[in-house]
Amino acid sequence: MDARISGHTQLYCLIGSPVGHSGSPAMYNYSFARTGIDAAYLAFDIPLEKTGEAVEALKLLKVGGFNVTMPCKTAVAQYVDEISPAARLIGACNTVTVGPDGKLTGHNTDGIGFVRNLQEHGVSVSGKKLVVLGAGGAATAICVQTALDGAAEIAIFNRKDEFYARGEHTVEALREAVPGCKVSITALEEQDALAAAIKNCDILINATKVGMKPLEKETLVDAAWFRPELVVADTVYNPKETRMIEEAKAAGCAKAVGGIGMLLWQGVAAFHLFTGKDMPAQEVLEKFFL
Ligand code: NAD
Repeated sequence: MDARISGHTQLYCLIGSPVGHSGSPAMYNYSFARTGIDAAYLAFDIPLEKTGEAVEALKLLKVGGFNVTMPCKTAVAQYVDEISPAARLIGACNTVTVGPDGKLTGHNTDGIGFVRNLQEHGVSVSGKKLVVLGAGGAATAICVQTALDGAAEIAIFNRKDEFYARGEHTVEALREAVPGCKVSITALEEQDALAAAIKNCDILINATKVGMKPLEKETLVDAAWFRPELVVADTVYNPKETRMIEEAKAAGCAKAVGGIGMLLWQGVAAFHLFTGKDMPAQEVLEKFFL
């Protein structure tokens, strides 16, 4: 690293809080070195109320671009000059690019990463019926991107907590922006409706915190609802295989895809937005994610 950094080295970074656990610096610095890009990536702990000041500081420092994590993902949208259609609909940016004129553009690569991960497993969302469990950040990104990418139907199920209203908002936003996609939301507590929706869908997606540590013993899906034609995907990557994914595999589902690939491919998409180059995805996967 010392040999790489010079007076010309371009800075990229992550802002949010906490960021100490983030795998992004390792992933990006490795990829800069492997692709011969004279750049370095750091993580800065920025609380929500300092989002605007942080963006101003990054502009002053002329960073090449930056990623945004919680709690700044929504707030950052008001400080960028332009916003991608997906990020606008999601209402959050996880990647901000800086143009040659210093113009900031907000993007959201979470949904892109999810769709790419499915593609890597031979699954297209185009024309498909989806059931999405969850209405938080990950679920919203997935609903928006899959709708933009041609999903025929998206049935959102969320428990009646503080995220339900966000799900309702997503339904309204997508009905207006992507009228060709039929989007609905139902309370997760309506188990008969959930069972019927899963019976009729092509792809079932868990985008809740259920299955993630410390809820790793839990699942929202009755294993009796699985069938061989169903594709099952999780956003959870810790553990790498959730109980839902294990049960889907055991039931012989067509595909059972864990969340680690979504994490990898959202980073690949951000790297490409930053540099125009391909991250060495397979190497990064093996070195940092497996
Ligand atoms: P969030 O806080 O924005 O949303 C949480 C969601 O989980 C809500 O829909 C909430 O209703 C639901 N939920 C929480 N506890 C529940 C329970 N006990 N029963 C039913 N529903 C419950 O969180 P997020 O950022 O959207 O993250 C959701 C999941 O997605 C997490 O497991 C996270 O690890 C994963 N994620 C993965 C990636 C990736 O790249 N693979 C990226 C982002 C998030």
